[in-house]
Amino acid sequence: MAEEKILEIKNLKKHFNLGKNQILKAVNDVTFHVNKGETFGLVGESGCGKSTIGRTIIGLYNKTDGDVLFNGENVHDLSEKELFKLRQKMQMIFQDPYASLNPRSTVREVISEPMEVHKLYKTKKEQNERVYQLLEEVGLNRDHANRYPHEFSGGQRQRIGIARALALNPDFIIADEPISALDVSVQAQVVNLLKQLQEEKGLTFLFIAHDLSMVKQISDRIGVMYLGNMVELTVSDSLYENPLHPYTQALLSAIPIPDPDIEESRERIILEGELPSPINPPSGCVFRTRCPFAMGICGQEKPEWQEVEENHFVACHLYNEKVKKDRRHEPVVNIR
Ligand code: SF4
Repeated sequence: MAEEKILEIKNLKKHFNLGKNQILKAVNDVTFHVNKGETFGLVGESGCGKSTIGRTIIGLYNKTDGDVLFNGENVHDLSEKELFKLRQKMQMIFQDPYASLNPRSTVREVISEPMEVHKLYKTKKEQNERVYQLLEEVGLNRDHANRYPHEFSGGQRQRIGIARALALNPDFIIADEPISALDVSVQAQVVNLLKQLQEEKGLTFLFIAHDLSMVKQISDRIGVMYLGNMVELTVSDSLYENPLHPYTQALLSAIPIPDPDIEESRERIILEGELPSPINPPSGCVFRTRCPFAMGICGQEKPEWQEVEENHFVACHLYNEKVKKDRRHEPVVNIR
């Protein structure tokens, strides 16, 4: 059966004008799509533009250029009224559940609010029943409805955030670093809950994360971003078994492996230097100032976005046929 695209991002740019001729290029010509029912992982260090993409998709930011199509409709061409309706189908879960939940509201009020704004239920009774149902779906119970967010642990607060995101029965959820602020043991529980909800409700997720450690557990495909650019995109297994871009290889080599023998013998790629500023990104390949394999051409030409194996896209001169003929370095693969 052909895959159906729920979201298409085409040559998306989001630049912020900081004044004094300074332009912050947070997202610079990014293209990808998300299929209905899948989880697409979007990964990169903080400041790479992944959260800006999430906010631009949902219409919290205007785009600078390019297109965001949701079910074929261009999100940024919609009227306020149409955008309001679309937000019923598209919801967001945030990194810090405490900051995103009003501390003065009870859990019932937090979860009911979107239902009231969208006038989903005619009676309070119906609305309350839905709140109880949602609490149970995320592993809490109806007794929690009258409590306040500060009475819960970080993991429980994230469950409340998920219940609120589910309140309008969305098709698509942008989860913006939903587990980054949680302990490792709790991270796995939240990931399992999201997977379970996806199965039960046929949800589609865009799962944003700053490293590759947990993303594999939930993602069907993964896109790796660096400094506003997508540098590699493929199905999860290929990314972990055969990472092509030097940045992906470095991210993977930073994940600790629980087996001490493997951990001791494996090769690590340590990235030198800081992430450059998106106000003044490096010429050519944006990764070249930290890339262990950088060549002369890397400072002169931006590498093309190309499909080097089936469903495996990468932007790196190491995989360009013309450059390969005279390059000095062999690509390094399978560094884990
Ligand atoms: Fe490194 Fe050059 Fe590839 Fe960029 S294009 S990742 S600098 S080898």
